[in-house]
Amino acid sequence: MKTFPMFLRMEGREVVIVGGGEEAAQKARLILKTEARLTLVAETLDGELAALVEAGRATHETSAPSPVRLSGSALVFAASGCPGLDACTASVARAGGALVNAVDQPDLCDAITPSIVDRDPVVVAIGTEGTAPVLARQIKTQVEEMLEPTLGGFAALAGRLRTAVTASIPKARRRAFWRWAFEAPRRQHAQGAERDAARMLKQAIAAGGAPDDQSVGSIALVGAGPGAADLLTLRAVRRLQEADVIFYDRLVDPEVLELARRDAERIYVGKAPGIHSWPQDKIDQVIVTEARRGRRVVRLKGGDPSIFGRADEEMSGARAANVPVEIVPGVTAASAVASRLGRPLTERGRTNRLVLATAVGAGNQIVDDIAEALRPGTTMAIYMGLGAAAEIRDQMIAHGLPADLAVDVVSAATTAHEEIIHTTVDGLATDIALLGMKNPAIILLRNPSIALEAKEPVQKPRTRAA
Ligand code: SAH
Repeated sequence: MKTFPMFLRMEGREVVIVGGGEEAAQKARLILKTEARLTLVAETLDGELAALVEAGRATHETSAPSPVRLSGSALVFAASGCPGLDACTASVARAGGALVNAVDQPDLCDAITPSIVDRDPVVVAIGTEGTAPVLARQIKTQVEEMLEPTLGGFAALAGRLRTAVTASIPKARRRAFWRWAFEAPRRQHAQGAERDAARMLKQAIAAGGAPDDQSVGSIALVGAGPGAADLLTLRAVRRLQEADVIFYDRLVDPEVLELARRDAERIYVGKAPGIHSWPQDKIDQVIVTEARRGRRVVRLKGGDPSIFGRADEEMSGARAANVPVEIVPGVTAASAVASRLGRPLTERGRTNRLVLATAVGAGNQIVDDIAEALRPGTTMAIYMGLGAAAEIRDQMIAHGLPADLAVDVVSAATTAHEEIIHTTVDGLATDIALLGMKNPAIILLRNPSIALEAKEPVQKPRTRAA
């Protein structure tokens, strides 16, 4: 190791940044996360830095610092944007005995700023001694994904409880308590149930240790998005990596599953034509049974679990069994389709209403009032409509919509098998059949509002002059 990682105590100490432009601002943003006093040295400061001085968060000096001036500083950054000036600042600071960091000149640095993952008070610093900055960024991204955004708050809570833990929990049980604390209560906290997490911890402290019964796991209904793995949310990735068992179906891309832990069990319950699939009530039961065995269950679902995803059935089973259950939202197919068409779902002045509709009802019958919701001013994304294209066309025409109204059909949006048809209400069924388009697909219609288009912008009520 050419450098040694350390955390420096910053409270009340002075950090000097010599420079007044973007390089200096980058360092200032970092240092202002700490409790150090910040001094900026430059003839002129750009807007962001000047505002810091204005707000009393930094002081400003204009004359070039001497070694004596810098001798009491904890850290000096040479960040003027000019390598020559920075080299000069570095030698002055070193003569004064201060630790120096010169931007982009590793040879002149006593101290190197690491890549930081900030979950204050939990801080991860990553350094490669200048050999591989890109690798440092990649590691940072991976660690960012591993650590929930609220982890700092939870660690701080744990810190506040330390004295109580020492007082109430016998030494022999303390380690087990903390191991438990950073499992179940941390999970609760990460899912937004901060109060429940605090209550769990306090109850365990009062009871003299972690609960013995740690048998209940959890269920997460996780939105896998429309297909492309990089359209998963960070939270979805996190749940996949925590999962002991994953139930997935046909709409989930194999690449998404690869994000799970290698030893997680993967169970296919999907509804591909011709392949044996699980009835819904069996899925509802099995996810609960697995969670009650103490396992972390992920039910991975295409798009957003709360849209045509039977989430209600899966959640009520879990609730009835007192198993914690959450929804992790995902990018729904309609949003994916809009991105692939390069056109937003709503357009100011044309569509002020977005309808997500299914063409197929609970008894597998075709919904017979789809056209009614396509009033002027509406964008409508029809899910599960491919097989019902002829009926949808007939309903639209019977409802008085123009036969030449434009319709877009997009199948397998964001995947390698994506296909797009631009057609009209009239041509909908024939064009789908001609191209042999396959599920899953969205039928997207826009019935723009003439009234909305023509109308002048709404006038704000006039305020009376004082
Ligand atoms: N929960 C999902 C929808 C499940 S219903 C979501 O929020 O997207 C299944 C239907 O979703 C399919 O019949 C199709 O209409 C639509 N769908 C899912 N993925 C799609 C994709 N990649 N491209 C187009 N449509 C898709």
